[in-house]
Amino acid sequence: MTLIPKRQLEEVRRIFSDFLRDRGQRQTPERFAILDEVYATSGHFDADELYVGLKEKEVGVSRATVYNTLDLLIECDLVVKHQFGNKQAKYERAYSYWQHDHLICMDCNELFEFCDPRIQGIQEMVADIYQFEVKHHSLHIYGHCRRENCPNRPGSEAHS
Ligand SMILES: [Zn+2]
Ligand SMILES: [Zn+2]
Repeated sequence: MTLIPKRQLEEVRRIFSDFLRDRGQRQTPERFAILDEVYATSGHFDADELYVGLKEKEVGVSRATVYNTLDLLIECDLVVKHQFGNKQAKYERAYSYWQHDHLICMDCNELFEFCDPRIQGIQEMVADIYQFEVKHHSLHIYGHCRRENCPNRPGSEAHS
């Protein structure tokens, strides 16, 4: 997973800026710093990880601002939020990021991403049948990964 090009980051900032203006929300430097950090992060992260990352970069934001900004970013479709099982919610950037779904290992909590265009096809078909405007979907597949180094792997007692 690579970082997005500068041009796309400018586009993302513009979308956020328009959204905030339309909502009568203030365009604070903190909100844009959070947006930049989200788009500098590849993969999935939780709100605390994002907060710690910002702290390390000496961006002065409160945890509340992080949560509040993430909610705004979800509303304008720049971020997706995932609830995997009963774990802490995970987020990931959404703009021009490949469409994908998730496999979640119940032993090590590792997330695996996969993409199957048939899912997109199903989505379009049901949207058409039900006259439904689809905003997003979620498909989470839970199970046991078969990686050698997966902790708590059933039967792994034999190795320890
Ligand atoms: Zn595993
Ligand atoms: Zn993902």
